[in-house]
Amino acid sequence: MTDVSQPAGAPQTGALEAPEAAVAPFDFDVTIVGAGPVGLALAGWLARRSATQRLSIALIDARRPEDAQGDPRAIAVSQGSRMILEPLRWPADATAIHRIHVSQRGHFGRTLIDHTEHGLPALGYVLRYGSIVQALAEAVQPTSVHWFQSTSAQTPVQEHDGVTLPVQSGEVTRHLRTRILVNAEGGLFHEQQKSGSASGTRDYGQTALVGTVSVSAPRPHVAWERFTEQGPIALLPTGGARDADYALVWCCSPEEAARRAQLPDDAFLQELGAAFGDRMGRFTQIKGRAAFPLGLNALDTLVKGRIAAIGNAAQTLHPVAGQGLNLGLRDAHALADALSQHGPTPLALATFAQRRALDRRLTIRSTDTLARLFTVDFPALGTLRGLALTALEFVPPVKTALARQMMFGQRR
Ligand SMILES: Cc1cc2nc3c(=O)[nH]c(=O)nc-3n(C[C@H](O)[C@H](O)[C@H](O)COP(=O)(O)OP(=O)(O)OC[C@H]3O[C@@H](n4cnc5c(N)ncnc54)[C@H](O)[C@@H]3O)c2cc1C
Repeated sequence: MTDVSQPAGAPQTGALEAPEAAVAPFDFDVTIVGAGPVGLALAGWLARRSATQRLSIALIDARRPEDAQGDPRAIAVSQGSRMILEPLRWPADATAIHRIHVSQRGHFGRTLIDHTEHGLPALGYVLRYGSIVQALAEAVQPTSVHWFQSTSAQTPVQEHDGVTLPVQSGEVTRHLRTRILVNAEGGLFHEQQKSGSASGTRDYGQTALVGTVSVSAPRPHVAWERFTEQGPIALLPTGGARDADYALVWCCSPEEAARRAQLPDDAFLQELGAAFGDRMGRFTQIKGRAAFPLGLNALDTLVKGRIAAIGNAAQTLHPVAGQGLNLGLRDAHALADALSQHGPTPLALATFAQRRALDRRLTIRSTDTLARLFTVDFPALGTLRGLALTALEFVPPVKTALARQMMFGQRR
């Protein structure tokens, strides 16, 4: 699929013409820019509901879904996200997380969160970014969504009754008219235009080094989060090589990340062992190192006129608590609900923004606090953090409330 004249999933659409189903003078009721996991999920949910509502939907991406296969990220998807994704499609290669072990290096204090405490089959699941995109693409492809692949969206122009969006594929540029435009352009902190508000932007001065490591004494279905003076280390079970493979997310200064990215494997594994400890024996292998600069970039408002933002386009978070995609999926689900309830109208967007306010605020703040609190290395703070982790063990309602916020967010 290479150009704007031939959208995937819309064989009835002619070259650079408005599709028959569109209501003049609009080409589409809802146009989604970005077919990452969040844009795809929105397209899928809308398509299922619009079977009865006859919404015409466009989905635009500069890339093709196959391109996501090379993305090195492993993502922890919460049980709450699984519940909303399952009616669309759930990837077959998900590895369940039954227990999360949280600790800090060089200080006392640790806490355990177990799925049995919550009466759930799992706390979450580990998935490759490419698997999520592939599964959701398979859910969207057979629907009536007009999917423009290898097509870039340019700057939109708001009008009183809709939005005009220039889109380009190769040499061909077309101007689409849509009633509602959804910005699901996502992206990573260092690539994004910054939100422009002081409260919404923070460079953590950290880089996440990712890769797949193998260990000599695996603990199947256990995820690990270990706070060190340089930043958190997460190890997520991937189920690979008979449970010995873990996805590593090692956050540290950009300089350290650049140095570690170049280290010979043996030296890298030794440093990782010194930072993480021997809870899973020795680290025996590292594959596919890649780096992601980290920061917070959050919009103050999700809606401007007839344009709404969801997913990383609305808020890009530090991966410390594994919340970015989970929060983005809740954005998309709430927007699908509001558009189904009120149609492609400003009322739908206002309803969406109002319903998302609390969950966004809590998740952005808690992730930002965690990213900063656990990386400042004052000895007194280490003791306080140890007390906080220990206290969680002895005050089950607080631990339960925190775990449920992480898994399900706030829904209204
Ligand atoms: C190291 C790391 C680990 C992470 N771990 C977790 C985790 O454990 N749990 C979790 O919930 N989250 C995690 N995240 C966050 C998660 O990866 C993001 O929140 C998620 O990918 C956002 O999805 P998205 O669809 O909003 O954006 P993206 O995945 O960035 O997709 C955006 C899409 O838009 C397209 N696009 C962009 N601009 C245009 C344009 N102008 N025209 C056409 N198409 C365009 C792009 O091609 C892309 O396909 C992690 C992030 C990092 C960096």
